Amino acid sequence: MLLQITEPGSPRPPPVGLVVGIDLGTTHCVVAHVKEGKPHVFGFEGEGPLVPSLLTLEDEKLQVGVDLGKTLSSTKRLMGEGAKKLPLGDYSFTPVEVAGKILEHLKSLIERIGPLTAAVITVPAYFDEAARVATKQAAALAGIKVLRLLNEPTAAALAYGLETGAEGIYAVYDLGGGTFDISLLKLEKGVFQVLSTGGDLQLGGDDIDDVLAVSKGLSRKQARKIKEQLTSCEEWEGVHRSELEAIADPFVRKTLTISQDVLQAAGLSPEAVQGVVLVGGMTRMPCVQAQVEAFFKKPPLMDINPDEAVALGAALSADGLTHGSKTLLLDVTPLSLGLETAGGLIEKILPRNTPLPALASEEFTTQADGQGGMVIHVLQGEREFVQDCRSLACFELKGLPALPAGAVRVRVDFAIDVEGLLTVTAVEKTTGLSHHIEVRPSYGLDGKTLEKMLKESQRFGKEDVQNRVKTEETLHNKH
Ligand code: ADP
Ligand code: MG
Repeated sequence: MLLQITEPGSPRPPPVGLVVGIDLGTTHCVVAHVKEGKPHVFGFEGEGPLVPSLLTLEDEKLQVGVDLGKTLSSTKRLMGEGAKKLPLGDYSFTPVEVAGKILEHLKSLIERIGPLTAAVITVPAYFDEAARVATKQAAALAGIKVLRLLNEPTAAALAYGLETGAEGIYAVYDLGGGTFDISLLKLEKGVFQVLSTGGDLQLGGDDIDDVLAVSKGLSRKQARKIKEQLTSCEEWEGVHRSELEAIADPFVRKTLTISQDVLQAAGLSPEAVQGVVLVGGMTRMPCVQAQVEAFFKKPPLMDINPDEAVALGAALSADGLTHGSKTLLLDVTPLSLGLETAGGLIEKILPRNTPLPALASEEFTTQADGQGGMVIHVLQGEREFVQDCRSLACFELKGLPALPAGAVRVRVDFAIDVEGLLTVTAVEKTTGLSHHIEVRPSYGLDGKTLEKMLKESQRFGKEDVQNRVKTEETLHNKH
Protein backbone atom coordinates (compact mmCIF):
# COMPACT_ATOMS: atom_id res chain seq x y z
CA MET A 1 0.00 0.00 0.00
CA LEU A 2 1.27 3.42 -0.92
CA LEU A 3 0.88 6.37 1.39
CA GLN A 4 -1.31 9.16 0.10
CA ILE A 5 -0.43 12.82 -0.19
CA THR A 6 -3.22 15.40 -0.27
CA GLU A 7 -3.55 18.13 -2.85
CA PRO A 8 -2.21 21.52 -1.75
CA GLY A 9 -4.86 23.70 -0.16
CA SER A 10 -7.24 20.86 0.73
CA PRO A 11 -8.41 20.96 4.34
CA ARG A 12 -6.60 18.95 6.99
CA PRO A 13 -8.66 16.15 8.48
CA PRO A 14 -9.91 16.79 12.02
CA PRO A 15 -7.76 15.29 14.79
CA VAL A 16 -8.18 11.55 15.02
CA GLY A 17 -9.18 9.98 18.26
CA LEU A 18 -11.94 10.51 20.74
CA VAL A 19 -12.24 13.24 23.30
CA VAL A 20 -14.72 12.11 25.93
CA GLY A 21 -16.41 13.01 29.18
CA ILE A 22 -16.25 10.42 31.96
CA ASP A 23 -18.61 10.33 34.93
CA LEU A 24 -16.57 8.25 37.36
CA GLY A 25 -19.47 7.45 39.68
CA THR A 26 -19.71 5.73 43.04
CA THR A 27 -22.09 3.11 41.66
CA HIS A 28 -21.80 3.52 37.89
CA CYS A 29 -19.55 5.10 35.33
CA VAL A 30 -20.80 6.66 32.11
CA VAL A 31 -18.79 7.83 29.12
CA ALA A 32 -20.05 10.35 26.56
CA HIS A 33 -18.72 12.24 23.58
CA VAL A 34 -19.83 15.00 21.24
CA LYS A 35 -20.69 14.10 17.68
CA GLU A 36 -21.89 16.70 15.22
CA GLY A 37 -22.31 19.19 18.01
CA LYS A 38 -24.46 16.94 20.19
CA PRO A 39 -23.41 14.88 23.22
CA HIS A 40 -24.17 11.16 23.26
CA VAL A 41 -23.44 8.46 25.81
CA PHE A 42 -21.54 5.42 24.65
CA GLY A 43 -23.65 2.31 24.69
CA PHE A 44 -21.01 -0.34 25.12
CA GLU A 45 -21.74 -3.53 23.30
CA GLY A 46 -23.53 -5.87 25.65
CA GLU A 47 -23.01 -3.53 28.61
CA GLY A 48 -25.26 -0.52 27.99
CA PRO A 49 -24.19 2.95 29.00
CA LEU A 50 -23.84 2.28 32.74
CA VAL A 51 -20.69 0.43 33.74
CA PRO A 52 -20.85 -0.68 37.39
CA SER A 53 -17.96 0.74 39.45
CA LEU A 54 -16.91 -2.66 40.73
CA LEU A 55 -13.55 -4.40 40.86
CA THR A 56 -13.93 -8.14 41.05
CA LEU A 57 -11.54 -11.01 41.59
CA GLU A 58 -12.70 -14.28 40.17
CA ASP A 59 -10.46 -17.29 39.53
CA GLU A 60 -7.38 -15.10 39.97
CA LYS A 61 -8.68 -12.76 37.28
CA LEU A 62 -9.41 -9.09 37.87
CA GLN A 63 -12.52 -7.77 36.21
CA VAL A 64 -14.36 -4.49 36.18
CA GLY A 65 -18.08 -3.96 35.91
CA VAL A 66 -19.29 -7.44 36.74
CA ASP A 67 -20.84 -8.50 40.02
CA LEU A 68 -19.19 -11.86 40.61
CA GLY A 69 -16.96 -13.44 43.22
CA LYS A 70 -15.11 -11.13 45.58
CA THR A 71 -15.86 -7.50 44.85
CA LEU A 72 -14.75 -4.02 45.84
CA SER A 73 -17.52 -1.45 45.47
CA SER A 74 -18.23 2.22 46.28
CA THR A 75 -14.51 2.90 46.75
CA LYS A 76 -14.96 6.42 45.38
CA ARG A 77 -15.99 7.42 48.90
CA LEU A 78 -12.43 6.72 49.98
CA MET A 79 -10.64 8.69 47.27
CA GLY A 80 -8.10 10.98 48.79
CA GLU A 81 -7.52 8.69 51.76
CA GLY A 82 -4.09 7.94 50.41
CA ALA A 83 -2.46 4.69 51.37
CA LYS A 84 -5.60 2.97 52.66
CA LYS A 85 -5.49 -0.62 51.42
CA LEU A 86 -8.65 -2.51 50.56
CA PRO A 87 -8.43 -6.29 50.62
CA LEU A 88 -9.60 -8.32 47.61
CA GLY A 89 -8.85 -12.02 47.93
CA ASP A 90 -5.12 -12.35 48.50
CA TYR A 91 -4.50 -8.90 47.08
CA SER A 92 -5.14 -5.41 48.24
CA PHE A 93 -5.74 -2.17 46.39
CA THR A 94 -5.73 1.49 47.29
CA PRO A 95 -8.80 3.48 46.25
CA VAL A 96 -6.64 5.13 43.57
CA GLU A 97 -5.65 1.74 42.18
CA VAL A 98 -9.31 0.64 42.08
CA ALA A 99 -10.26 3.82 40.22
CA GLY A 100 -7.26 3.25 37.94
CA LYS A 101 -8.51 -0.26 37.08
CA ILE A 102 -12.03 1.06 36.44
CA LEU A 103 -10.70 3.82 34.16
CA GLU A 104 -8.45 1.32 32.38
CA HIS A 105 -11.53 -0.80 31.68
CA LEU A 106 -13.46 2.24 30.42
CA LYS A 107 -10.53 3.10 28.19
CA SER A 108 -10.55 -0.38 26.68
CA LEU A 109 -14.29 -0.09 26.02
CA ILE A 110 -13.85 3.33 24.39
CA GLU A 111 -11.01 2.02 22.28
CA ARG A 112 -13.30 -0.54 20.71
CA ILE A 113 -14.77 2.53 19.02
CA GLY A 114 -11.61 4.53 18.40
CA PRO A 115 -8.36 5.67 19.99
CA LEU A 116 -8.84 7.79 23.11
CA THR A 117 -7.12 11.17 22.95
CA ALA A 118 -8.17 12.81 26.19
CA ALA A 119 -10.97 13.07 28.73
CA VAL A 120 -12.73 15.40 31.11
CA ILE A 121 -13.41 13.47 34.31
CA THR A 122 -16.05 14.60 36.77
CA VAL A 123 -15.69 14.72 40.54
CA PRO A 124 -18.10 15.71 43.33
CA ALA A 125 -18.01 19.43 44.09
CA TYR A 126 -16.98 18.67 47.67
CA PHE A 127 -13.88 16.66 46.66
CA ASP A 128 -10.89 18.24 48.36
CA GLU A 129 -7.44 18.63 46.90
CA ALA A 130 -6.32 15.16 47.95
CA ALA A 131 -9.32 13.48 46.32
CA ARG A 132 -8.83 15.51 43.13
CA VAL A 133 -5.16 14.64 42.95
CA ALA A 134 -6.08 10.99 43.61
CA THR A 135 -8.50 11.07 40.68
CA LYS A 136 -5.78 12.41 38.40
CA GLN A 137 -3.39 9.72 39.62
CA ALA A 138 -5.99 7.07 38.79
CA ALA A 139 -6.27 8.48 35.27
CA ALA A 140 -2.49 8.43 34.94
CA LEU A 141 -2.45 4.74 36.00
CA ALA A 142 -4.98 4.03 33.25
CA GLY A 143 -2.99 6.03 30.71
CA ILE A 144 -5.75 8.58 30.20
CA LYS A 145 -4.84 12.18 29.48
CA VAL A 146 -7.03 14.44 31.62
CA LEU A 147 -8.06 17.74 30.06
CA ARG A 148 -9.49 18.84 33.36
CA LEU A 149 -11.54 17.67 36.30
CA LEU A 150 -15.02 19.12 36.32
CA ASN A 151 -17.45 19.34 39.21
CA GLU A 152 -20.38 16.96 38.74
CA PRO A 153 -23.13 19.55 39.35
CA THR A 154 -21.53 21.93 36.86
CA ALA A 155 -21.42 19.11 34.31
CA ALA A 156 -25.13 18.44 34.85
CA ALA A 157 -25.89 22.15 34.42
CA LEU A 158 -23.93 22.17 31.15
CA ALA A 159 -25.88 19.16 29.91
CA TYR A 160 -29.03 21.27 30.28
CA GLY A 161 -27.33 24.18 28.52
CA LEU A 162 -28.04 26.40 31.51
CA GLU A 163 -24.91 28.47 30.79
CA THR A 164 -26.69 29.98 27.78
CA GLY A 165 -29.83 30.83 29.73
CA ALA A 166 -30.88 33.21 32.43
CA GLU A 167 -28.34 34.17 35.08
CA GLY A 168 -29.16 33.23 38.63
CA ILE A 169 -28.91 30.49 41.21
CA TYR A 170 -29.41 26.86 40.24
CA ALA A 171 -29.63 23.82 42.48
CA VAL A 172 -28.35 20.43 41.43
CA TYR A 173 -29.95 17.61 43.44
CA ASP A 174 -28.01 14.37 42.93
CA LEU A 175 -29.27 11.18 44.56
CA GLY A 176 -27.29 8.16 43.43
CA GLY A 177 -26.78 4.64 44.70
CA GLY A 178 -24.65 5.44 47.71
CA THR A 179 -24.38 9.20 48.02
CA PHE A 180 -26.47 12.32 48.09
CA ASP A 181 -25.13 15.69 46.95
CA ILE A 182 -26.82 19.04 46.72
CA SER A 183 -25.00 21.96 45.13
CA LEU A 184 -25.95 25.56 44.59
CA LEU A 185 -24.45 27.09 41.48
CA LYS A 186 -24.42 30.73 40.62
CA LEU A 187 -24.49 31.44 36.90
CA GLU A 188 -23.03 34.77 35.91
CA LYS A 189 -21.89 35.71 32.40
CA GLY A 190 -21.81 32.10 31.27
CA VAL A 191 -19.69 30.96 34.21
CA PHE A 192 -20.78 28.69 37.04
CA GLN A 193 -19.51 29.26 40.51
CA VAL A 194 -20.19 26.68 43.20
CA LEU A 195 -21.78 28.72 46.00
CA SER A 196 -22.19 25.92 48.47
CA THR A 197 -22.51 22.19 48.63
CA GLY A 198 -23.77 19.65 51.07
CA GLY A 199 -24.67 16.03 51.13
CA ASP A 200 -24.30 12.69 52.79
CA LEU A 201 -21.67 10.17 51.75
CA GLN A 202 -23.78 7.35 53.19
CA LEU A 203 -27.21 8.09 51.81
CA GLY A 204 -28.60 6.73 48.57
CA GLY A 205 -30.55 4.06 46.77
CA ASP A 206 -28.63 1.29 48.54
CA ASP A 207 -30.22 2.28 51.86
CA ILE A 208 -33.69 1.86 50.43
CA ASP A 209 -32.68 -1.48 48.86
CA ASP A 210 -31.45 -2.67 52.25
CA VAL A 211 -34.62 -1.78 54.12
CA LEU A 212 -36.81 -3.31 51.42
CA ALA A 213 -34.66 -6.46 51.38
CA VAL A 214 -34.94 -6.90 55.15
CA SER A 215 -38.65 -6.21 55.32
CA LYS A 216 -39.45 -8.60 52.46
CA GLY A 217 -36.79 -11.23 53.10
CA LEU A 218 -35.12 -10.62 49.75
CA SER A 219 -31.56 -10.26 48.57
CA ARG A 220 -30.29 -6.74 48.06
CA LYS A 221 -30.12 -7.34 44.32
CA GLN A 222 -33.75 -8.48 44.17
CA ALA A 223 -34.84 -5.50 46.25
CA ARG A 224 -33.04 -3.11 43.94
CA LYS A 225 -34.69 -4.65 40.90
CA ILE A 226 -38.12 -4.29 42.48
CA LYS A 227 -37.39 -0.68 43.48
CA GLU A 228 -36.43 0.16 39.91
CA GLN A 229 -39.46 -1.59 38.42
CA LEU A 230 -41.78 0.29 40.77
CA THR A 231 -40.79 3.52 39.05
CA SER A 232 -42.83 2.52 36.03
CA CYS A 233 -45.26 0.00 37.58
CA GLU A 234 -47.63 0.34 40.52
CA GLU A 235 -46.86 -3.20 41.67
CA TRP A 236 -44.02 -5.66 41.10
CA GLU A 237 -43.54 -9.15 42.51
CA GLY A 238 -46.13 -8.58 45.19
CA VAL A 239 -44.69 -5.25 46.37
CA HIS A 240 -46.84 -2.16 45.95
CA ARG A 241 -45.34 1.22 45.09
CA SER A 242 -46.86 2.76 48.23
CA GLU A 243 -44.91 0.27 50.39
CA LEU A 244 -41.67 1.31 48.70
CA GLU A 245 -42.56 4.97 49.06
CA ALA A 246 -43.11 4.53 52.78
CA ILE A 247 -39.63 2.99 53.04
CA ALA A 248 -38.08 5.74 50.91
CA ASP A 249 -39.79 8.60 52.71
CA PRO A 250 -37.40 9.12 55.65
CA PHE A 251 -34.41 9.03 53.30
CA VAL A 252 -35.95 11.55 50.91
CA ARG A 253 -36.87 13.79 53.84
CA LYS A 254 -33.27 13.66 54.98
CA THR A 255 -32.11 14.91 51.57
CA LEU A 256 -34.50 17.83 51.87
CA THR A 257 -33.27 18.70 55.35
CA ILE A 258 -29.74 18.80 53.95
CA SER A 259 -30.96 20.91 51.03
CA GLN A 260 -32.56 23.29 53.50
CA ASP A 261 -29.28 23.59 55.43
CA VAL A 262 -27.31 24.29 52.27
CA LEU A 263 -29.76 27.00 51.20
CA GLN A 264 -29.65 28.51 54.65
CA ALA A 265 -25.85 28.53 54.67
CA ALA A 266 -25.98 30.52 51.43
CA GLY A 267 -28.65 32.83 52.85
CA LEU A 268 -31.21 31.73 50.26
CA SER A 269 -34.80 30.53 50.28
CA PRO A 270 -36.04 27.73 47.99
CA GLU A 271 -37.88 30.41 45.97
CA ALA A 272 -34.58 32.17 45.22
CA VAL A 273 -33.48 29.17 43.20
CA GLN A 274 -34.14 29.70 39.52
CA GLY A 275 -34.01 26.07 38.44
CA VAL A 276 -33.44 22.64 39.93
CA VAL A 277 -31.62 19.89 38.05
CA LEU A 278 -32.21 16.26 38.95
CA VAL A 279 -29.22 13.94 38.74
CA GLY A 280 -28.67 10.34 39.84
CA GLY A 281 -30.63 7.20 39.09
CA MET A 282 -32.71 7.52 42.26
CA THR A 283 -34.33 10.72 41.02
CA ARG A 284 -36.28 8.56 38.59
CA MET A 285 -38.52 7.59 41.51
CA PRO A 286 -41.77 9.54 41.20
CA CYS A 287 -41.91 10.25 44.93
CA VAL A 288 -38.43 11.81 44.84
CA GLN A 289 -39.44 14.06 41.96
CA ALA A 290 -42.64 15.08 43.69
CA GLN A 291 -40.95 15.91 46.99
CA VAL A 292 -38.19 17.91 45.33
CA GLU A 293 -40.80 19.84 43.38
CA ALA A 294 -42.79 20.58 46.53
CA PHE A 295 -39.67 21.71 48.36
CA PHE A 296 -38.34 24.08 45.69
CA LYS A 297 -41.86 25.07 44.60
CA LYS A 298 -41.08 24.51 40.95
CA PRO A 299 -40.96 21.55 38.58
CA PRO A 300 -37.38 20.26 38.38
CA LEU A 301 -35.47 19.82 35.11
CA MET A 302 -35.44 16.14 34.34
CA ASP A 303 -35.77 15.51 30.63
CA ILE A 304 -32.19 14.29 30.37
CA ASN A 305 -31.56 10.82 31.75
CA PRO A 306 -30.53 11.52 35.35
CA ASP A 307 -27.75 8.95 35.30
CA GLU A 308 -26.34 10.32 32.03
CA ALA A 309 -26.50 14.09 32.57
CA VAL A 310 -23.10 14.35 34.26
CA ALA A 311 -21.29 12.42 31.52
CA LEU A 312 -23.08 14.40 28.79
CA GLY A 313 -22.02 17.69 30.36
CA ALA A 314 -18.45 16.42 30.74
CA ALA A 315 -18.44 15.55 27.03
CA LEU A 316 -19.58 19.08 26.14
CA SER A 317 -16.82 20.48 28.29
CA ALA A 318 -14.21 18.18 26.69
CA ASP A 319 -15.39 19.21 23.25
CA GLY A 320 -15.29 22.90 24.14
CA LEU A 321 -11.77 22.56 25.54
CA THR A 322 -10.39 20.79 22.47
CA HIS A 323 -12.24 22.42 19.61
CA GLY A 324 -12.69 25.73 21.29
CA SER A 325 -15.87 27.68 21.05
CA LYS A 326 -16.20 31.26 19.92
CA THR A 327 -17.33 32.46 23.27
CA LEU A 328 -15.15 30.19 25.36
CA LEU A 329 -14.71 31.92 28.67
CA LEU A 330 -11.43 31.35 30.35
CA ASP A 331 -11.05 30.87 34.04
CA VAL A 332 -9.36 33.75 35.71
CA THR A 333 -7.95 34.30 39.17
CA PRO A 334 -10.77 36.10 40.99
CA LEU A 335 -8.36 37.71 43.46
CA SER A 336 -4.66 38.59 43.28
CA LEU A 337 -2.12 36.13 44.64
CA GLY A 338 1.11 37.21 46.22
CA LEU A 339 3.71 36.92 48.95
CA GLU A 340 4.31 38.61 52.28
CA THR A 341 7.37 40.87 52.22
CA ALA A 342 9.20 42.74 55.00
CA GLY A 343 7.00 45.20 56.84
CA GLY A 344 3.84 43.11 56.56
CA LEU A 345 3.23 44.18 52.97
CA ILE A 346 1.98 41.99 50.16
CA GLU A 347 3.75 41.74 46.82
CA LYS A 348 1.34 40.65 44.10
CA ILE A 349 2.72 38.02 41.81
CA LEU A 350 -0.39 36.94 39.90
CA PRO A 351 -2.79 39.86 39.63
CA ARG A 352 -6.51 39.15 39.76
CA ASN A 353 -8.23 38.37 36.47
CA THR A 354 -5.14 36.62 35.11
CA PRO A 355 -6.41 33.96 32.68
CA LEU A 356 -5.61 30.38 33.65
CA PRO A 357 -3.23 28.62 33.30
CA ALA A 358 -0.60 31.15 34.30
CA LEU A 359 2.98 31.29 35.46
CA ALA A 360 4.80 34.23 37.06
CA SER A 361 8.11 34.56 38.89
CA GLU A 362 9.79 37.09 41.04
CA GLU A 363 13.10 37.26 42.89
CA PHE A 364 13.39 38.01 46.57
CA THR A 365 16.30 38.49 48.92
CA THR A 366 17.14 38.44 52.62
CA GLN A 367 16.59 41.32 55.01
CA ALA A 368 19.40 40.56 57.50
CA ASP A 369 23.07 39.48 57.31
CA GLY A 370 23.47 35.72 57.56
CA GLN A 371 19.72 35.15 57.46
CA GLY A 372 19.35 31.36 57.35
CA GLY A 373 15.71 31.02 56.39
CA MET A 374 12.90 32.74 54.61
CA VAL A 375 9.19 32.53 55.31
CA ILE A 376 7.18 32.08 52.13
CA HIS A 377 3.70 33.25 53.05
CA VAL A 378 1.19 32.98 50.21
CA LEU A 379 -1.69 35.44 50.34
CA GLN A 380 -4.79 36.29 48.39
CA GLY A 381 -6.44 39.67 48.13
CA GLU A 382 -6.27 43.19 46.78
CA ARG A 383 -5.28 45.16 49.86
CA GLU A 384 -1.74 46.28 50.63
CA PHE A 385 -1.26 44.88 54.11
CA VAL A 386 -1.00 41.23 55.03
CA GLN A 387 -3.58 41.52 57.80
CA ASP A 388 -6.22 42.61 55.24
CA CYS A 389 -5.62 39.66 52.92
CA ARG A 390 -6.44 35.99 53.13
CA SER A 391 -3.62 33.68 54.16
CA LEU A 392 -3.48 30.60 51.92
CA ALA A 393 -0.32 28.79 52.89
CA CYS A 394 3.01 29.28 54.55
CA PHE A 395 6.32 27.43 54.47
CA GLU A 396 9.91 28.09 55.35
CA LEU A 397 12.89 27.82 53.03
CA LYS A 398 15.64 26.78 55.45
CA GLY A 399 19.42 26.52 55.07
CA LEU A 400 20.08 29.64 53.00
CA PRO A 401 23.80 30.37 52.43
CA ALA A 402 25.23 32.76 55.04
CA LEU A 403 25.57 35.99 53.06
CA PRO A 404 25.13 39.68 53.77
CA ALA A 405 21.61 41.11 53.64
CA GLY A 406 20.40 41.49 50.08
CA ALA A 407 22.92 39.04 48.57
CA VAL A 408 20.86 35.84 48.61
CA ARG A 409 18.65 35.33 45.55
CA VAL A 410 15.47 33.34 45.93
CA ARG A 411 13.21 32.92 42.94
CA VAL A 412 9.57 32.27 43.68
CA ASP A 413 7.35 30.81 40.97
CA PHE A 414 3.58 30.97 41.08
CA ALA A 415 2.07 28.44 38.68
CA ILE A 416 -1.69 28.05 38.52
CA ASP A 417 -3.27 25.39 36.35
CA VAL A 418 -6.51 25.44 34.38
CA GLU A 419 -8.44 24.15 37.38
CA GLY A 420 -7.10 26.79 39.71
CA LEU A 421 -4.54 24.69 41.56
CA LEU A 422 -1.67 26.95 42.61
CA THR A 423 1.88 25.63 43.01
CA VAL A 424 4.33 27.96 44.71
CA THR A 425 8.00 27.03 44.37
CA ALA A 426 10.89 28.84 46.02
CA VAL A 427 14.45 28.18 44.80
CA GLU A 428 17.68 29.62 46.22
CA LYS A 429 19.77 30.28 43.15
CA THR A 430 23.30 29.38 44.22
CA THR A 431 22.59 26.18 46.17
CA GLY A 432 19.49 25.07 44.26
CA LEU A 433 17.79 24.64 47.62
CA SER A 434 14.07 24.52 46.95
CA HIS A 435 10.68 23.86 48.43
CA HIS A 436 7.18 23.94 47.03
CA ILE A 437 3.60 23.86 48.14
CA GLU A 438 0.23 23.32 46.44
CA VAL A 439 -2.93 25.18 47.36
CA ARG A 440 -6.30 25.78 45.82
CA PRO A 441 -6.96 29.48 46.31
CA SER A 442 -10.70 29.04 45.73
CA TYR A 443 -10.91 26.42 48.46
CA GLY A 444 -12.98 27.67 51.36
CA LEU A 445 -13.62 30.88 49.49
CA ASP A 446 -17.37 31.07 49.31
CA GLY A 447 -19.28 33.46 47.09
CA LYS A 448 -19.98 35.86 49.94
CA THR A 449 -16.36 36.19 51.06
CA LEU A 450 -15.23 36.65 47.49
CA GLU A 451 -17.76 39.41 46.90
CA LYS A 452 -16.82 41.07 50.17
CA MET A 453 -13.13 41.02 49.32
CA LEU A 454 -13.78 42.43 45.88
CA LYS A 455 -16.05 45.16 47.23
CA GLU A 456 -13.41 46.08 49.77
CA SER A 457 -10.76 46.33 47.12
CA GLN A 458 -13.02 48.66 45.15
CA ARG A 459 -13.57 50.80 48.18
CA PHE A 460 -9.83 51.05 48.46
CA GLY A 461 -9.57 52.61 45.05
CA LYS A 462 -8.92 49.70 42.75
CA GLU A 463 -10.30 49.45 39.27
CA ASP A 464 -13.62 47.87 38.53
CA VAL A 465 -13.66 44.14 38.88
CA GLN A 466 -17.24 43.46 39.70
CA ASN A 467 -18.15 42.48 36.17
CA ARG A 468 -15.24 40.16 35.72
CA VAL A 469 -15.74 37.89 38.68
CA LYS A 470 -15.04 34.38 37.62
CA THR A 471 -14.07 31.61 39.91
CA GLU A 472 -13.20 28.00 40.12
CA GLU A 473 -15.82 26.70 37.72
CA THR A 474 -15.70 28.18 34.29
CA LEU A 475 -17.17 26.92 31.16
CA HIS A 476 -18.10 28.09 27.77
CA ASN A 477 -21.22 29.23 26.06
CA LYS A 478 -22.09 26.95 23.24
CA HIS A 479 -23.16 29.58 20.77
P1 ADP B 1 -23.92 6.94 41.34
O1 ADP B 1 -23.88 8.37 40.93
O2 ADP B 1 -23.82 6.77 42.83
O3 ADP B 1 -22.95 6.09 40.60
P2 ADP B 1 -26.43 6.45 39.89
O4 ADP B 1 -26.74 7.83 39.54
O5 ADP B 1 -26.07 5.53 38.80
O6 ADP B 1 -25.37 6.36 41.07
O7 ADP B 1 -27.72 5.88 40.68
C1 ADP B 1 -27.82 4.56 41.08
C2 ADP B 1 -29.08 4.38 41.88
O8 ADP B 1 -30.21 4.72 41.10
C3 ADP B 1 -29.28 2.94 42.34
O9 ADP B 1 -29.76 2.92 43.67
C4 ADP B 1 -30.34 2.44 41.39
O10 ADP B 1 -31.12 1.39 41.94
C5 ADP B 1 -31.19 3.69 41.22
N1 ADP B 1 -32.01 3.62 40.03
C6 ADP B 1 -31.63 3.43 38.74
N2 ADP B 1 -32.68 3.37 37.91
C7 ADP B 1 -33.80 3.52 38.69
C8 ADP B 1 -35.21 3.54 38.46
N3 ADP B 1 -35.70 3.39 37.23
N4 ADP B 1 -36.02 3.73 39.51
C9 ADP B 1 -35.54 3.88 40.76
N5 ADP B 1 -34.22 3.87 41.04
C10 ADP B 1 -33.36 3.69 40.05
MG1 MG C 1 -23.40 10.14 40.07
